[in-house]
Amino acid sequence: MHITGTHFNYYLVCQRKLWLFANAIQMEHTNDTVTEGKLIHETSYPQRPAKYEEIQIEGIKVDFYDAKNKVIHEIKKSSKLHDAHIWQLKYYIYVFQKNGIENVSGILEYPKERKTEEIYLSSIDIERIKEMETEIMNIIKSKKVPPVINASRCKKCSYYDFCYVGEI
Ligand code: SF4
Repeated sequence: MHITGTHFNYYLVCQRKLWLFANAIQMEHTNDTVTEGKLIHETSYPQRPAKYEEIQIEGIKVDFYDAKNKVIHEIKKSSKLHDAHIWQLKYYIYVFQKNGIENVSGILEYPKERKTEEIYLSSIDIERIKEMETEIMNIIKSKKVPPVINASRCKKCSYYDFCYVGEI
């Protein structure tokens, strides 16, 4: 199987979430995030010409690729899970590079917070991504579901009821 951007993001947010999602326990429509990103994009940047392409390679799907400038735009609602967003974008750049599309960079956009950040992939990042890919596969294949994390992010997670229902 291919590791997708969603796997990568969930791995960084919560390993239990990654396991539940990868083992087909789905409490959410995975396209919601994509639709949301598109919606935020359309409402936040109506002045931008439709110059971005949608690209799908090796299980990842990038909605806004500026082919002319080789920039992947990733639009997020809030910067709360900033680290996960950075690595998800680095992972996209890594997959592009692995497939022969060199010198790609990324721009992380938080239109509601009026913030943008340029993201680049270093050789150290590539080594870390390879390690994370191994860890992701190990978690997914494990017979044991990882424990709950008791974090504030759980309240917004679609698995909240699944994880905490019945707990005192
Ligand atoms: S509710 Fe919390 S512990 Fe459960 S999957 Fe979501 S983030 Fe992980």
